[in-house]
Amino acid sequence: MDYSQYPAEPFRIKMVEPVSMIGREERERVAREAGYNTFLLNSEDVYIDLLTDSGTNAMSDRQWAGLMMGDEAYSGSKNFKHLEATVKELFGFNYVVPTHQGRGAENLLSTISIKPGQYVLGNMYFTTTRFHQENNGGIFVDIIKDEAHDASLNVPFKGDIDIAKLEKIIAEKGAENIAYVCLAVTVNLAGGQPVSMKNMREVSAICRQNKINVFYDATRFAENAYFIKEQEEGYEDKSIQEITFEMFSYADGCTMSGKKDGIVNIGGFLCLNDHDLYTAATELVTVFEGMPSYGGMAGRDMEALAIGLKESMQFEYIEHRVKQVRYLGDRLLEAGIPIIEPAGGHAIFLDARRFCPHLDQKELPAQSLANELFIESGVRSMERGIVSAGRDKETGENHMPKLETVRLTIPRRVYTYKHMDVVADAVTQLYKHREDIRGLRFVYEPKQLRFFTARFEHI
Ligand SMILES: *Cc1c(COP(=O)(O)O)cnc(C)c1O
Repeated sequence: MDYSQYPAEPFRIKMVEPVSMIGREERERVAREAGYNTFLLNSEDVYIDLLTDSGTNAMSDRQWAGLMMGDEAYSGSKNFKHLEATVKELFGFNYVVPTHQGRGAENLLSTISIKPGQYVLGNMYFTTTRFHQENNGGIFVDIIKDEAHDASLNVPFKGDIDIAKLEKIIAEKGAENIAYVCLAVTVNLAGGQPVSMKNMREVSAICRQNKINVFYDATRFAENAYFIKEQEEGYEDKSIQEITFEMFSYADGCTMSGKKDGIVNIGGFLCLNDHDLYTAATELVTVFEGMPSYGGMAGRDMEALAIGLKESMQFEYIEHRVKQVRYLGDRLLEAGIPIIEPAGGHAIFLDARRFCPHLDQKELPAQSLANELFIESGVRSMERGIVSAGRDKETGENHMPKLETVRLTIPRRVYTYKHMDVVADAVTQLYKHREDIRGLRFVYEPKQLRFFTARFEHI
């Protein structure tokens, strides 16, 4: 393995949080007590926590200093002004509405821009995003390129929208029956796959022609920008900031979870260009989140987010971020482990179909694999397969996603390459006795977003 391609951490560590590992029998017990759902484990029982990169980031010294500058006025906080100015400068949208996290922004956007029965088009789906779209009467349609559903196909920009699918559905359903296009950069459930600038430009041109709005799920914009710089012709010499600005120039607004590329622990926002939509959003935010100048966030949190957004666009930071994830992927590939290729921006996804070919998708292979990995090694991961996909709202049948995966999600600035080695070794060890992995079934299945709190037992 050529180690020179992986840059060292571009930071020094000046505060540490000790971690330790409980014994195997104890891990078996706590997994059972958690109903074999890794979401329900206690953090204290986890050794390396790759459940999510959401809100699990390590903030910088400058962000911590920013917390001390919190202006906790009920209205018109100077930290909101700072956040608003930063987002406008970096993203280029006219209006910014803060929310407590990404799904708060999704709730606002879906409520103000979907009429019941309208179609909402997306590049694959995200759990909370699709929930709010459907909850507002939208009919979700996936128009991502087919390649994205093939875990083993190693091609760049697997997050791209299929232009032919977009044109077809506009022709079939009529532009007036399409609420908007929701374009995620990067696509979390496809494996953190990026969208090319070319695709954003094309989608925007078609949608503008048809007067259809394009809203981005901007949650991982910086990772997407890095992939464009690294892999798209004509962008090698552009800065992450220039690329980001161009990306958003093709959108009419975005939802953002600050808990990801904002490098904070809580927060989010909605951006809009249209004044009427903005007015509608400010009326709603007051009901669900708080005044339009805090939207559920403390002043100090808005300050940390304003600083974090800029840090996420520093080249050394984002290069290390993406390459650390790739390092884990390369270690696993070297050991012959089936993962989604190419490695995405925030996580490595184990392909549970190939990992556990002895299990049917109905036996929840990814859910079971995530549990066994915890019991094997104390490493916590998350199911992204049939359990996360939930049921069809109309028929009540399980969605059967092509991708049945376990996500090893890397928090930002938290773990070192050595931690990645430990994870790779644990997965490799488990792979050697993978036939021992047994299927699971639900004993408690929540109606909405079931993966968060469901409980299971062995079949
Ligand atoms: C996390 C996430 C969201 C939701 O954001 P929250 O802050 O968790 O509410 C939306 N879209 C994507 C792609 C995400 O990863």
